[in-house]
Amino acid sequence: MSEHGGICVFSEVYDLTLEMLGRGRQLADKLHTELAVVQFGKNAQEKVKDLTRYGADKVYLVNNITPEVFQLDSYISVLHDIAARYRPEILMIGSTRNGKPLAARLATRLDAGCVPDCIRLDVDEGRRLIGERITYGGNAVAKVAFKSKPQIVTVPTRAFEKATPQDRKGEVVKLDVNVEPPKVEVVERKPLETSSERVEEAEVIVSCGRGLEKKDDITLLKDLADVLGGQVGCSRPLVEDRKWFSEWIGLSGHKVKPKIYIASGVSGVIQHVAGIRDAKIIVAINKDPEAPIFEIADYGIVGNLYEVLPALEEALKKQLQ
Ligand SMILES: Cc1cc2nc3c(=O)[nH]c(=O)nc-3n(C[C@H](O)[C@H](O)[C@H](O)COP(=O)(O)OP(=O)(O)OC[C@H]3O[C@@H](n4cnc5c(N)ncnc54)[C@H](O)[C@@H]3O)c2cc1C
Repeated sequence: MSEHGGICVFSEVYDLTLEMLGRGRQLADKLHTELAVVQFGKNAQEKVKDLTRYGADKVYLVNNITPEVFQLDSYISVLHDIAARYRPEILMIGSTRNGKPLAARLATRLDAGCVPDCIRLDVDEGRRLIGERITYGGNAVAKVAFKSKPQIVTVPTRAFEKATPQDRKGEVVKLDVNVEPPKVEVVERKPLETSSERVEEAEVIVSCGRGLEKKDDITLLKDLADVLGGQVGCSRPLVEDRKWFSEWIGLSGHKVKPKIYIASGVSGVIQHVAGIRDAKIIVAINKDPEAPIFEIADYGIVGNLYEVLPALEEALKKQLQ
């Protein structure tokens, strides 16, 4: 059987695919190997061009699958087929709700190792992939090396930067692969009631915690977020206990990476902080000077959020006029 070689990337989320291609390109150059990406759908010609501009040497274009609906069993069979045919040494899969079980089950089929949620990836002198992932509730970083190939990792959104698109050409390999029929059927779909924008993608987030007293007071955060062109976020108790929001930020919620994260009335316990570590600037507003959020904040305001938020909004409005 041929040696393993090359890197192969897949995610059903297009932006995440481009981010993985960014790091995948650097690793492929380091290993002097090729970078491939799997793309589903007949009408993906435009995407194919972009995938090569963002770093792919090869695009495996799978025609006989509809990307609109994620079908775990079918996707596994396609990726298994590609992995068996082309024997990549590294498989990078987007760490989405669908991508994680996909990676784990694919690893089982290939009898391979799988490291989820890698926030850093590198290779050592023996061509081994080294993945780093946050562990112990955000208190430690585990460094994991693979002992066999293929080496499968999942990569969360915003762990890596997209490459600057370049005018480069790649090869398109059209594949008609054996797609196993799904073993489960989606019987109903209901839209989730969320804000139209995704908090994971916001550049500015004004978030609140249990320091906020009433649901109506969310307008204080919205007003400041509007001035900054940002979005409102929150800690978990505001979803689970108070039911004011549908999504939260943190270890068990969204991991965010904004340019500015303003945490108001958030104590800053480890489970929340695990989701905001990658924010460029953290501003904390808390009336308790001993609140742990101040330990990680770049700027701290000890004060009552009901005074500080409107004052900030006023001051910024004047500045931005
Ligand atoms: C397995 C597990 C997973 C979890 N995952 C997450 C997660 O992903 N995300 C998450 O957020 N939590 C998570 N939690 C919950 C977490 O442990 C904390 O309970 C939660 O983050 C605390 O939320 P908080 O900071 O809003 O509230 P609190 O800890 O009660 O803090 C409120 C803060 O507001 C300040 N305050 C009060 N009034 C004012 C005011 N008027 N002005 C200014 N400041 C004021 C207080 O001084 C205090 O510091 C998880 C817990 C478990 C067990």
